[in-house]
Amino acid sequence: MDSVYHLIRQPSRVVIVTHKNPDGDALGSTLALAAVLHKLLHTVTVVLPNDFPPLFNFLHGVDKAIIGEMNPELAMAAFEKADIIFCLDFNSLDRIDRFGLDVMASNAVKILIDHHIDPEPFADHILSKTEASSTAELVYDFLVDNKLEGYIDVNVAEALYTGILMDTGSFRYATNPHVFEIAAALKRMGMDDYMLQIRLFNSMTEKQLKLLGHCLANRMELMTEYQTGIIWLDRDDYKNWSIGRGDTEGIVNYILMVRNMKMAVFVSEQQNVTKLSFRSKGNINVQEICHTHFNGGGHRNASGGQLKASMEDTLAKVKEIIPLTMNAYQLQHEQ
Ligand code: 5GP
Ligand code: MN
Repeated sequence: MDSVYHLIRQPSRVVIVTHKNPDGDALGSTLALAAVLHKLLHTVTVVLPNDFPPLFNFLHGVDKAIIGEMNPELAMAAFEKADIIFCLDFNSLDRIDRFGLDVMASNAVKILIDHHIDPEPFADHILSKTEASSTAELVYDFLVDNKLEGYIDVNVAEALYTGILMDTGSFRYATNPHVFEIAAALKRMGMDDYMLQIRLFNSMTEKQLKLLGHCLANRMELMTEYQTGIIWLDRDDYKNWSIGRGDTEGIVNYILMVRNMKMAVFVSEQQNVTKLSFRSKGNINVQEICHTHFNGGGHRNASGGQLKASMEDTLAKVKEIIPLTMNAYQLQHEQ
């Protein structure tokens, strides 16, 4: 990364792109890096393949991002003119939809910063660490390693902490000792962690809370024998509840709150595909399941995928795969 150190000190046209359906880590890491590079006098453009949940409206600079789905020409022009392209929080170009082609075609220097398993080798420089619980941590380390710590202001610190909070489930999952050191450093910089907790976790709309109730009361099925639970929402649910971006965020996690549950699956019927979200505890590897059976991937304990199939067929496939997968593990029931 020695050449990167010099590269980022030379003002140029930078594009930062993150994965589609951007989550808190995708947005936080991207906006933090964008703000620092802006201070270094780069012309910085943030490209999000599609829109982000309104929950993240408060993040500094998010309003200036180009939403690729709405402004494809603008996004393509940015890629075409770029001298440097940063790819954050994704490991394969299909995670940014059609813009993968623009990244591939570009002559810009490409830098990947990510924490997913098996990154595709499309970038010139790759900072990939699966042991990091969030890309935000890696961006923090990237800034420190490149002697840019002094450029981390309160807005940058809040963006980074948002990424960390969302990807670690408030320090519950996949944490490493270093993430607590970063959190401490960000807090010393004036980041208001209490405000962020309120904004991110105590800001549900009435509709979202009632939708959660609907999911738990009417759409949850537990396969206790296999320590797995499923929650599903079909097209009618989407219509009846006018479900929007971000309204179903986090619902899958409730299954793992049930004693003995080791794996959770959330299935939602979208316009053209059926989307799946998997979560697990311990050694149950949902990345493998999503990669092998559902055209996806992610992390060992949090992954996603999709099928071009109806809700009915998708649920049938899920229920067929659960016993096959779970029987391979030595399942133990707690008291
Ligand atoms: P979520 O279930 O919250 O959508 O995603 C959980 C994790 O799985 C994230 O790390 C995300 O990057 C990954 N993921 C979600 N959907 C897909 C997908 O369709 N393909 C791949 N490769 N990863 C996904
Ligand atoms: Mn992430």
